[in-house]
Amino acid sequence: MVNNQLSTTLQAIQDYAVAYHVPIMENQGIGELIELLKVQQPEKILEIGAAIGFSAIKMTEALPTSTVDTVERDDSRYQKALEFIAQSGFGERIRIFHADALELSLDVLKPEYDAIFIDAAKGQYERFFDKYEALLAKGGIIYCDNMAMHGLSDIPLSEVPRRKRTMIRNLATFKEHMLNDPRYDTELLSSGDGIMICRKK
Ligand code: SAH
Ligand code: MG
Repeated sequence: MVNNQLSTTLQAIQDYAVAYHVPIMENQGIGELIELLKVQQPEKILEIGAAIGFSAIKMTEALPTSTVDTVERDDSRYQKALEFIAQSGFGERIRIFHADALELSLDVLKPEYDAIFIDAAKGQYERFFDKYEALLAKGGIIYCDNMAMHGLSDIPLSEVPRRKRTMIRNLATFKEHMLNDPRYDTELLSSGDGIMICRKK
């Protein structure tokens, strides 16, 4: 019964994402993220960028004893996420905050998270990281999606559409910083759209 309700919800989310062009994770990316989380077994997860709740629900499904806090700034996506989370049956384990993650007060969140998943505005990753690493437990992991920017991070900047250049430049700088940050063990995976894993030493 519960499983049925869950798979119906996940299908409805995927259909909605296609119909309304919501960039939720694709199968390979979410599959890889979930494998990594199953190894890590984080108890508390924080997500930046809920969209309509897909990845939050998938993480909650994969980790039966974990809780997920997630943040979404867009009004209609937030409303849809609320509906889908309620429908999924995971309302008790997922909290969603309607806010710009760069403005949200850390006080409303938990004091510590074992895993933080960054999947919001790509040009702002470093700012999300710098703000939310304050909540990362020792030995905790920050995962970042879309590090490959659908191939744009691999081509010369002059060939990247102008309006995307700042975002690509910011992402490249952030990647460099993380690879050189002695406080973290950082690894880049090519799965999905590129996942960066930063493990706090
Ligand atoms: N993690 C989701 C997909 C997220 S798409 C999934 O795979 O199911 C990225 C989302 O981040 C968008 O819905 C966008 O509105 C949101 N976002 C972008 N910048 C944000 C910010 N500063 N604060 C909160 N949400 C943000
Ligand atoms: Mg993404």
